[in-house]
Amino acid sequence: MATAHIVPVGMVDIELLRALLNLLPSILPNWIFELNNPVPPPIKAYSAERKQYKASVIALYLPKFSGYTLGITPYDIYEEGFNFLFGLAMPKVGKAIVSYHRLRPEFYGFTPNFKLLLERLGKEAVHELLHLHGLHHCPNSKCVMSFSNSLLDTDLKEIMPCEQCRRKITSS
Ligand SMILES: [Zn+2]
Ligand SMILES: [Zn+2]
Repeated sequence: MATAHIVPVGMVDIELLRALLNLLPSILPNWIFELNNPVPPPIKAYSAERKQYKASVIALYLPKFSGYTLGITPYDIYEEGFNFLFGLAMPKVGKAIVSYHRLRPEFYGFTPNFKLLLERLGKEAVHELLHLHGLHHCPNSKCVMSFSNSLLDTDLKEIMPCEQCRRKITSS
């Protein structure tokens, strides 16, 4: 059993957030999800040169709760060594951040698709939450814990953890 506090970072689509809050308990049924007040993105996380926010700076700046904190942001995020990230988890501090900037079909010139966006965001949110819960990357490309290098990887994997990862969740 775990509690996850969801914190919108910046102007998050409220409809998307509500849909995510409905989706998550169906994937992690024994978890408690709390929606918290939005926070603005920290100015010090912004790189004017890259026009992106540094994921670890946002994650560290998120409010601390008992349990896990997951920030959701519409802004593009990065980390040294990566052009961009879909999400970043910092298990030692119990905080993670997911960006849906590059999960939106319109980012790639496609028509907006709420259902697809929600599915992608759900996968990335579950992925980062399970990192916080102590799980590592899984070699099974269908498993939610497989690493997404590209959107193709995200679309290929399922929102559910594989059998082996599921066993790790219940034993922790
Ligand atoms: Zn990961
Ligand atoms: Zn797995």
